[in-house]
Amino acid sequence: MDLHELTIEQAKKGLEKKEFSSVDLVNAMLDRIDRLDGDIGAFITVDRDGAQNRAKEADIRISNGEASKLPLLGIPLALKDLLCTKGVKTTCASKILENFVPQYDATVVSMLKDAGAVIVGKTNLDEFAMGSSTENSGFHITKNPWNKEHVPGGSSGGSAAAVAARMCTAALGTDTGGSIRQPASHCGVVGIKPTYGRVSRYGLVSYASSLDQIGPITKDVTDSAILLNVICGHDPLDSTSANIETPDFTQAITKFKTDGLKGMKAGIPKEFLSLKGLDPDVEAAFNNSKKILQNLGVEMIEVSLPQTDYAVAAYYVIAPSEASSNLARFDGVRYGFRDRSADNIIDMYKKTKSKGFGAEVQRRIITGTYALSAGYYDAYYGRATRVRAMIRDDFDRAFESCDLIISPVAPTPAFKIGENVDDPLTMYLTDIFTLSTNMAGLPGISVPCSISSNGLPIGLQIMAKRFDEISLIKAGYGFEQSLGLKERFPNI
Ligand code: GLN
Repeated sequence: MDLHELTIEQAKKGLEKKEFSSVDLVNAMLDRIDRLDGDIGAFITVDRDGAQNRAKEADIRISNGEASKLPLLGIPLALKDLLCTKGVKTTCASKILENFVPQYDATVVSMLKDAGAVIVGKTNLDEFAMGSSTENSGFHITKNPWNKEHVPGGSSGGSAAAVAARMCTAALGTDTGGSIRQPASHCGVVGIKPTYGRVSRYGLVSYASSLDQIGPITKDVTDSAILLNVICGHDPLDSTSANIETPDFTQAITKFKTDGLKGMKAGIPKEFLSLKGLDPDVEAAFNNSKKILQNLGVEMIEVSLPQTDYAVAAYYVIAPSEASSNLARFDGVRYGFRDRSADNIIDMYKKTKSKGFGAEVQRRIITGTYALSAGYYDAYYGRATRVRAMIRDDFDRAFESCDLIISPVAPTPAFKIGENVDDPLTMYLTDIFTLSTNMAGLPGISVPCSISSNGLPIGLQIMAKRFDEISLIKAGYGFEQSLGLKERFPNI
């Protein structure tokens, strides 16, 4: 049995039946990391000793009969390196935090540990999650395991590549404008951005606080439901965390098995499909996905999201504005790197930030600061927030006539490394299908739906009403089962 191929669900059963131990499972992942990650570059930090110790503890707890109470007991997971881990470096892929070791765990990390998970390491990302290709990492790029000349997507590219290359059983990413769904789509794995407020952001290093959400990146839809069960829930340490009950998300799968998808309606935004630049393979994959859902009894209707043309512009004012405020704390005094060549404090700030932050982060801080500055605030930030409110209204109106909204995840399959780096605008435009979901606070999933003519995965995006992850998972699971993609993972 190839232990690295197992899903969370399968690994859990094998551990409970004592077919193998957590130490075996974790070592299988560490061996794969040793063999493959020098080339792929999915990880920033691998916590070998920590993982092996946790696995040994998990094996003792399994033999004490605790497995049934702990949904992730002994399961090896990876975390985007934007999530604070006590005693383990958390860099945000930035030179400014190169040696930062948090003194506490993010709430989601504590929740995973309480559920018995073994954290094998921290994965690469675009610096502070700003990007769509993981090329903005301050340390190294990550390659797409399907074709190493291509990007894995971003910003959670390390997590998506690690799951696709089976170097961990599953992972967590974060999504501010598409950073879970787009890399999941580009790497052929499943990713969910939960409703804003569903998952605590405490201990997540903030990029744009009104948009950021943590979510699962997994081999299949079932595993995403299993992880959501663990990481969702109200947290008094995060004032934006919703005080709402967490359902058992795996019930959505049971529901699909009993009721199917008959009676559900899916809206297709007409503005999305008239956009220029949609790759023909992506379009064909989307049309085929529509048919599959129709065969499952989903009724397709056309909906309208009139603000689509303004969404990218509004997002790229709001997200950098929030970032410029959030990143002010990295000043060389409180955390991480300080340039010691300066002889006065202003000079120290300037040199620390110029050397510590990469080009894209500096671009966002500058545009965000400008958009918030006196005299320009209303013209830029104020106007962008009004567009955001209209986007939210568009979705609310569309959801009056449907249960789901479907679209491609990205306009093209994964592009080549280097192809878009010098052209931030093209890079920003690739987020067109994903970022409105964040602006409206809605949940969205990316499920693999096809393989392009050049052998790269393509994902389908399904969005649902706020806090209706159950519909998302039910439809995603039904779709995944009836599609039955043959080539599920890269042959490495
Ligand atoms: N690509 C988008 C950005 O650079 C989204 C990133 C994200 O979701 N973290 O802002």
